[in-house]
Order: sequence, then structure tokens, then C-alpha cells
Amino acid sequence: MPYYHYYFDYTYILVLIGAVICMIASWKVKSTFGKYSHYRSLSGMTGAQAAERILHSAGIYDVQVRHISGSLTDNYNPRSKTLNLSDSVCNSTSVAAVGVAAHECGHAIQHAKGYIPLQLRSMFVPVANFGSMLAWPLIIIGLFFNSRSAITLVDIGIFCFSFAVIFQLITLPVEFNASRRALVQLREQGILGEQELVYTRKVLVSAALTYVASAAAAILQLLRLVILFGGRGRDND
Ligand SMILES: [Zn+2]
Repeated sequence: MPYYHYYFDYTYILVLIGAVICMIASWKVKSTFGKYSHYRSLSGMTGAQAAERILHSAGIYDVQVRHISGSLTDNYNPRSKTLNLSDSVCNSTSVAAVGVAAHECGHAIQHAKGYIPLQLRSMFVPVANFGSMLAWPLIIIGLFFNSRSAITLVDIGIFCFSFAVIFQLITLPVEFNASRRALVQLREQGILGEQELVYTRKVLVSAALTYVASAAAAILQLLRLVILFGGRGRDND
């Protein structure tokens, strides 16, 4: 019978640490973006105009730049080939807005060039969703049916959860690479000056840190599962 539900589960601290890291990262990106939303770029280009310029210079003409509602909801959708820019990016001429628009262009360029980590990431989406959906049910069912086999349902549950962690890790090179491409394009196209690029880089780095925080939180959750259930669930009657 599993007995660890009856006393304070100290491993929950790992989940809390993960949540705090994510909150700090999210606050940081919002405040950095907010700060550099007030710096208008000298070129006077809006996020949407900068995106068009970058896409065309990369020889991409089949990606549509669109406006979507929300804040920091910007994304590139490879299926519909649309570059969706939010309220504070699309029509803003700030160095923050232009930076975010260029970052999404970075994803469009990755897609056009068949950048392998992006392809891996897209392939991994359904696996990761399936894994995180099944992980907890399998672990809970596994705890009720103590099995003496070498591999228990609990182990399979933890294995499924690790797919979600791998997904977070594959996301990191994709995001860092998109930002690197963005800064190169902004410089080469003369959209931003050297000092403006320093500010834009700060915005993009803080955005990338939210992905690092998510990955760290996922690793901590996996660690918690291993501490709680790894090697348990069998022969402990
Ligand atoms: Zn991105």
C-alpha cells in the first residue's frame, strides 16, 4: 500500500521551485519588453514592416504577416505559414516590437530552410502531449496495482513524463537560434542601429529565459517523480 500520501511530501518543494523560477522568468520578460517598448527605433519601422522586410530578404514570399490580439502572443504557424504579431508588436515601432517580430521571422526562416531541431520539435509535439496526458494516470493506476514485474506501470508513467521534458529541451536550441537569426537580419537589413540591437538583444534573451525556466521546471518535476516512485511500486507489499 502506498503510504507517502499520509505525511508531508517534501518533494513537492521541487515543484514549487519550478513554479517560482517560471514566475520570475515571466515577470522578467514582461518588464524587459515593457521597458524597451518605449524606445522607438530610428528607422521608424513597425514590427509588421520589419517582418515583411526580413522575410523578403530571406526569399520568403509565401508567409503572411497578420495581426492577432493579446500581449506577447506572437508566433509563427508553420502549417498555415502565417506570422502572427500581437497588439504591442504589429504596429509598434519600438526596438522591443521589432525584435519580437524578427524573432518570429527567425522561425519562418528555420522552417523554410528545413532547420532540423525545428522539424524534430514539430514531430515531437504529439508525443509530448500524449506523454504528459498519460503520465499521471499510469503512475496512479500503477500504485494501486503493485506488480512484481521488472517494469511497472509507474515506470512507464515516469517514462511518458520524460517525453514532455525532452520536448522542452528540444525547444531551447530552436528558440535561441531564432533569436540569433533575428539579430543578424536586423543588423544586415539596417533595421536597427548598434545601440538599438543591444536593447533588442536584452528583450530576446529575457524571452528565451522563459523557455529555460519551463525546461528547468519540467526537469524538477521529473526528478520529483523519480524520487517519489522510481524503484517503488514493486516488491513493497
Ligand atoms: Zn520563438
